[in-house]
Amino acid sequence: MSAKVWLVGAGPGDPELLTLKAVRALNAAQVVMIDDLVNPAVLEHCPGAKVIPVGKRGGCRSTPQAFIHRLMLRYARQGYCVVRLKGGDPCIFGRGSEEADWLKAHGIDVELVNGITAGLAGATQCGIPLTLRGVARGVTLVTAHTQDDSRLNWHALAQTGTTLVIYMGVGKIDEVQRELLAGGLPANTPVAMIENASLPHQRECRSELAGMQQAAHAFQLKAPAVLVIGEVAAAMQHAMGEQQAWA
Ligand code: SAH
Repeated sequence: MSAKVWLVGAGPGDPELLTLKAVRALNAAQVVMIDDLVNPAVLEHCPGAKVIPVGKRGGCRSTPQAFIHRLMLRYARQGYCVVRLKGGDPCIFGRGSEEADWLKAHGIDVELVNGITAGLAGATQCGIPLTLRGVARGVTLVTAHTQDDSRLNWHALAQTGTTLVIYMGVGKIDEVQRELLAGGLPANTPVAMIENASLPHQRECRSELAGMQQAAHAFQLKAPAVLVIGEVAAAMQHAMGEQQAWA
């Protein structure tokens, strides 16, 4: 059998949101390399495996990505069943495809296993439908953080008419608010900020776009959190309003 690495999404945190395929991969794993945002509770599915933390707090600050690549390669070539476990989905702001390409270029088979990405989980846990007939025709997942500090086209994002789900945005809320307002998104656009989605300590802060920064500050919003911006962020209130109207 050729050397293989499984690139697996661990989901947003709640171990029950793991896929059956992720559980199967973990069961078979001999080496598991995990990121910071992975809930260690999911490791109950790989009790015999050697677990290596490789997140930024895992002690490989200088050249983390190259270090992770080499480690995966070494264990896979030694014949171990290697699982690279990432928070959420491995290919949503997760470098899954970069790692897959690198491994394939070095002759290693790769299998990608989906995980539920934090933005989708956070919204659903709060009862927010990211798409809604007649309200939101689509959803845009976007990161507020760019490695090269290139500027995002927030003005274009304000014009999409889709729900915006913003990752890595906690430190950039002032910029998000300012730019989306300048781009023409109405000041009263509903916002939901969801911290630690799907975990027992999940917290949720709702506001309007114009008061987003102030609300996040008062709430002491901390990473990891996703920001959901769009009419659907008040959808529960809308739905309840309709129910009352029907009653
Ligand atoms: N691959 C991951 C995203 C990694 S980027 C995924 O698909 O979910 C890291 C960002 O994801 C964080 O800054 C935060 O915006 C978001 N995130 C990850 N886990 C989260 C959680 N449990 N609750 C809220 N946001 C989360």
